[in-house]
Amino acid sequence: MSVAGQLYQLQEIDLEIAEKERRLEQVNSRLGRDDVVVAVRRKLDAAKERLEELRHGQRSLDWEIDDLAGKIKKGDEELYSGRIKNPKELSNLQHEVELLKAKRDDLETKDLEIMEQVESAEAGADALNRELEETTTEWQREQEQLRKDKETLGSSLNKLRQQRQALAGEVDPGTVALYEGLRKGKGFAVARVEQGICRGCRISLSSSELQQARSGALVQCGSCSRILYLP
Ligand SMILES: [Zn+2]
Repeated sequence: MSVAGQLYQLQEIDLEIAEKERRLEQVNSRLGRDDVVVAVRRKLDAAKERLEELRHGQRSLDWEIDDLAGKIKKGDEELYSGRIKNPKELSNLQHEVELLKAKRDDLETKDLEIMEQVESAEAGADALNRELEETTTEWQREQEQLRKDKETLGSSLNKLRQQRQALAGEVDPGTVALYEGLRKGKGFAVARVEQGICRGCRISLSSSELQQARSGALVQCGSCSRILYLP
């Protein structure tokens, strides 16, 4: 194989190494990151807090209603006990009891509203609980897959680096240095020649460049300086 052919192979390996390194970086950046799970957990915590507030409000309201019921019962007993003879006093007490009953009715309506809010908040928290479970399971599955990917990529990279070392060892060090320099400066060092055109810069090559490249000599494109490779 010509030196250009060897360098082209080297370049293929380098591209594969770069691609796998890029993927490994992506995998590493996602490994251990649990933002998705944390976000759902935060929503659930907020929902639970709201539910607790509502339940607390409901308990206070229930106590208030119980308290009123006690007062109403006492007032009613007093009214029908026959102990109060004074009509004015009787009418005052009647009025007082009516006010208490009106307040109780009012609170009972509020209690029903708050009960509905509690139920809907409970349903919301339940849904978030399920979402957290699902998200966590999905996250664990993803992390497991990422760990596997990392292992696979790591072992592929090891093999590729060994191949690269072996291949680079077959080429004279000065030529490898030329290749490395071009790679750093231009992204890739070896350009295929197709239909007399350098695929690195898409400029037509001179007939002498083509002839030299065809002979297997190491030729650089006169325009982009890349090493020319005729497949
Ligand atoms: Zn070129």
